[in-house]
Amino acid sequence: MKLLVTGGAGYVGSVCAARLIESGHEVVVLDDLSTGHADAVPSGARFVEGDINEVIGSVLAEGFDGVLHFAAKSLVGESMVDPAKYWQGNVVTSLRLLDAMREHGTPRLVFSSTAATYGEPEEVPIAESAPTRPTNTYGATKLAIDHAITSYAAAHGLAAVSLRYFNVAGAHGPVGERHAVETHLIPLVLQVALGQREQIQIYGEDWPTEDGTCVRDYIHVTDLADAHLLSLEHAVAGEHRIYNLGNGTGFSVKQVIDTCREVTGHPIPAVIAPRRAGDPAVLVASSERARTDLGWKPERADLTGIVRDAWEFTRSRQEA
Ligand code: UDP
Repeated sequence: MKLLVTGGAGYVGSVCAARLIESGHEVVVLDDLSTGHADAVPSGARFVEGDINEVIGSVLAEGFDGVLHFAAKSLVGESMVDPAKYWQGNVVTSLRLLDAMREHGTPRLVFSSTAATYGEPEEVPIAESAPTRPTNTYGATKLAIDHAITSYAAAHGLAAVSLRYFNVAGAHGPVGERHAVETHLIPLVLQVALGQREQIQIYGEDWPTEDGTCVRDYIHVTDLADAHLLSLEHAVAGEHRIYNLGNGTGFSVKQVIDTCREVTGHPIPAVIAPRRAGDPAVLVASSERARTDLGWKPERADLTGIVRDAWEFTRSRQEA
């Protein structure tokens, strides 16, 4: 297929673009490089630097079999203090994309959604039928886009899949996580191991979990990318399907830090800090639907392997 990957210079987008190329698809990456890196775009992709709002019409006019839409603002904390950036950058931009897809008859969409659409869960693991009550603006904007996609699929015959990611981690060979403002646990802990940061702060030790720290479901970015490929194959015209992507196993912040200690051989000093606003205690996915409908099966579920891949990537960047 000929596919457009928006946000293909970012972490998940660039790994998906690489996987698509490895599978024989033709890939065009569209990215404004506001947070992405031009050198993360895989060499087999054609790169268009630009703002979706300005160029999407002319890009899609070439004719595409589908769009994988990753371009988005994704910092939870920032979304609370600068909501306009998120409603404009995520929702308005995605509506612009949907309209351009309708105009040019682009038949398939795979959308990068998030577990943040659910908010504080009533039940764990979280299934797609769980109530969607986002606790932050980032999650609210992603949920709004999901609703828009549902309407466009029903009205205009779009074949759409939204993938709700839990905690994405690891690296796909030379492509990994490098955010200008890093807020995610694993890359921050690895910065301590590299000597770029003195210690890691644990956001709260008084959560209602076994060791008092928050529990998350970490999924390897390559497994995540594979779900996008399967989604493209299984998307059905006129339907919007939603799938949670996680391993179904939770690890606490302390367990993650311990795993990073084992992998890196560094003592990684940790201090207890106040809870972070908007953090649910436990987020673990039920990915049964993705397994059943898409035939998806995570192949790299082991946390040590996920951290090892992230560590190799981090060290190679350091040496580069
Ligand atoms: N966390 C932490 N210290 C940090 C960064 C994150 O204790 O410096 C915790 C955070 O409170 C959450 C977990 O690690 O419970 C995962 O956070 P991350 O930002 O990686 O992903 P999120 O779950 O927010 O999507």
